[in-house]
Amino acid sequence: MIAKNRSIPKEIEMYEAIIRRLPANHPRKAEFENKLSRKKAGYKGEKELDYHISQINHSSFTILHDIRIPYNDTHFQIDTLFISNSLMIPIDSKYYAGTLEFYPEFNQMIQYLNGNEKVYPDPILQTKIQGRQLEAFLRSHQFSPPPFEPLVAITNSQALIKNPTQNKEVSSRVFKSPGILYKIRPYLEKYQEEVLTDQDIKKIVKLLLRKHSPYLPDLTELPYSDFQKGVECPACNTIGMEKFHSLWGCKKCGHTSKDAHVAALKDYFLINGQSITNRQFRDFLGIPSIHQARRLLSQLDLIITGEKKGRVYTPGKNF
Ligand SMILES: [Zn+2]
Repeated sequence: MIAKNRSIPKEIEMYEAIIRRLPANHPRKAEFENKLSRKKAGYKGEKELDYHISQINHSSFTILHDIRIPYNDTHFQIDTLFISNSLMIPIDSKYYAGTLEFYPEFNQMIQYLNGNEKVYPDPILQTKIQGRQLEAFLRSHQFSPPPFEPLVAITNSQALIKNPTQNKEVSSRVFKSPGILYKIRPYLEKYQEEVLTDQDIKKIVKLLLRKHSPYLPDLTELPYSDFQKGVECPACNTIGMEKFHSLWGCKKCGHTSKDAHVAALKDYFLINGQSITNRQFRDFLGIPSIHQARRLLSQLDLIITGEKKGRVYTPGKNF
């Protein structure tokens, strides 16, 4: 059973909005383009792993995708978590390209790519630490967690995995996405003793879902004034559509749209936080009339708090 699906990370949506709104010559534009492409590649790899999970019989497990739990002034993140009555399997997904040599004896992994050599922390150790944190978190909530067995998925199908020291942990814990069943099976056979009841698992899942807090990039060093304001033309991507009665019109390509302001408001929420006033809305979208702005805002799925000038709009559940 899948208790939490994977959805497009908010982080990706934020980077997309930032890139859309930063002018072409902005000094930090390339940095966010890099972050976006890395994050997108990782997400693609995770979705591929999800596909292989969906192909195996996972009925003895409850599965949570992409959880991030605050614990002891920090957070631990688990890309995929399998929970059964007798076992937990946290899986870390790594979308690394090139040749990957694992040296767990020295807590490192070396990547060879395009003639370059780069050292990374050992992903097996990282996943073990996440598992320990999960264990401690569950104990702190009065659960007696079952044993856990961490795994590392290399989700880039082009990567070449090498285990030069023939380390047993590498061969038993690291795998390419299509091989998931064969990595899980030995652990299923090893742990037969029931530690958690079905009821416990339900409670744990509920707790994890309640505590889940997705990572959001800190944009405090990116001034709001750096962003281009205005409504983007959905046809030619030029920012600065003009409002004529009930339509938005593009000066550049002549395209008209009824609801182009919705995407602009979404961008505002992504780059400037989850609330907007009528004045901020008019300023960002370039709407002169306070009444027209209020009418547009009232037609959207937004939550209204405060009165008159103090009125603030925040996104509703389906916005
Ligand atoms: Zn246009």
